[in-house]
Amino acid sequence: MSKICLCCGKEINENTTMSWHKECLYKFFGTYSFPDVSVLESEIEKLAIQDINKNFSITGV
Ligand SMILES: [Zn+2]
Repeated sequence: MSKICLCCGKEINENTTMSWHKECLYKFFGTYSFPDVSVLESEIEKLAIQDINKNFSITGV
């Protein structure tokens, strides 16, 4: 079963236990080693919050 990269949403064909492409990981965190899970989760939360705020400001309701 192929995994979907959490960063770009494309399939990961690499033999890895991570749910990120190495390239995406590097682009996002500037490192090829997976950061601490709590750091990662807070980063994703931040991004999600930014997206929500963006959507709110666009709709303006
Ligand atoms: Zn990716």
